Amino acid sequence: MTLSIKELIVEADRCVACGLCLPHCPTYRKTGSEADSPRGRIQLMRAVAQDILPNNARFNHHIDLCLSCRSCESACPNNVNYGALVDTSRALFTQKKSVWLMLAKPFMRYRYLTQALTWLIWLIQQGRCADLLKRLHPAAKLIPVINKPTTWENLYPTSHPNKQGAVSLFLGCTSHALDSETLKASIYVLNKLGVDVHIPAAQTCCGSIARQMGDTKESNKLLALNQRSFDQTMPILTAASGCGAGLADYLPQHKVQDVSAFLMTCDWSTVTITALNQRIFVQDPCTLRNVQKSHTAVYMLLQKIPHAEIIPLAGNSQCCGGAGAYMLTQSNMAKQLLDDKLNAIKASQVAILATSNIGCSLHLAKGLAEQNLTVSLLHPIQIIAKQMGFDV
Ligand code: SF4
Ligand code: SF4
Repeated sequence: MTLSIKELIVEADRCVACGLCLPHCPTYRKTGSEADSPRGRIQLMRAVAQDILPNNARFNHHIDLCLSCRSCESACPNNVNYGALVDTSRALFTQKKSVWLMLAKPFMRYRYLTQALTWLIWLIQQGRCADLLKRLHPAAKLIPVINKPTTWENLYPTSHPNKQGAVSLFLGCTSHALDSETLKASIYVLNKLGVDVHIPAAQTCCGSIARQMGDTKESNKLLALNQRSFDQTMPILTAASGCGAGLADYLPQHKVQDVSAFLMTCDWSTVTITALNQRIFVQDPCTLRNVQKSHTAVYMLLQKIPHAEIIPLAGNSQCCGGAGAYMLTQSNMAKQLLDDKLNAIKASQVAILATSNIGCSLHLAKGLAEQNLTVSLLHPIQIIAKQMGFDV
């Protein structure tokens, strides 16, 4: 939710400065500075809104360093809407004129452009020129080896005799390009359970990255396109919790759910799941834990796999540092937080790691590759789909 200046001040006044959120804030834990804590940022945002402090580079630095992980919201006894405060401050005070965002905008808005780019990347990777691409731009290191791009049908009907309903599937600008296997696995599992899957062709990016950069005009445009594309009578399922959180916050009239949470409402009595005698560690994305509050559904879903041991990754309450464009714009803090995750992965000798957000997955994959760690990094739906016969 984006607020007016008056509403921002009223919401900030609801913070009683108790400090209970401080130990939960990853940036405060790293810098130890009050200005990098939720309480400190709320004071700063209010002071700038009231013209008590100037909107200068120091203010921008402390707001930019916030991950929008919203761990502070989960800890706050007064339910201060920190997400709305920081979204509003970014829109009103710290909007970025980023070349990167200008270039990315058409790809976020028009899926056919992302599709064309995906084909290009795929062809480059097939031609083994990926190393050249990585040398040309550091962001290319985040691009995983991708599968052949997919042309999505409007409807994937179930062939199950007992239909359990119908849903819309959200593709996302990054997921459909870089993680089509997760979307295909979602369709497979939903169809197997008796659920029809609709994929509205006119859907677009969720707008979260534009909002994070303070470009409310662009994020609202994307939300309006999505609002028109999706049928309100069906739940919108997301397989990337970053998108799910953005849509749930800003399209409350649509029933937006993480795919794992929806699957926990289905009847599983007719499906066969083969055993997997492995330890599966789970990384909780902040957007799933603190915004959609659906992280427990992932554990319940994976526990359906006979013999699998499902274990939370140590330090799960702290953000991995991916946080949308944060991994590119705040690379120093992003790396410090990533290192904590990599240390937890090494300490537990993780071989399979499940994460429900493409942003976390890209960030973790980069860190794993840099440290030559061999870990199967998969969306939970890919893991269970494989045990149900999906050919990943
Ligand atoms: S959103 Fe995350 S990084 Fe930002 S203040 Fe809250 S806990 Fe700290
Ligand atoms: S926990 Fe809530 S009320 Fe307490 S300092 Fe943090 S934001 Fe303010």
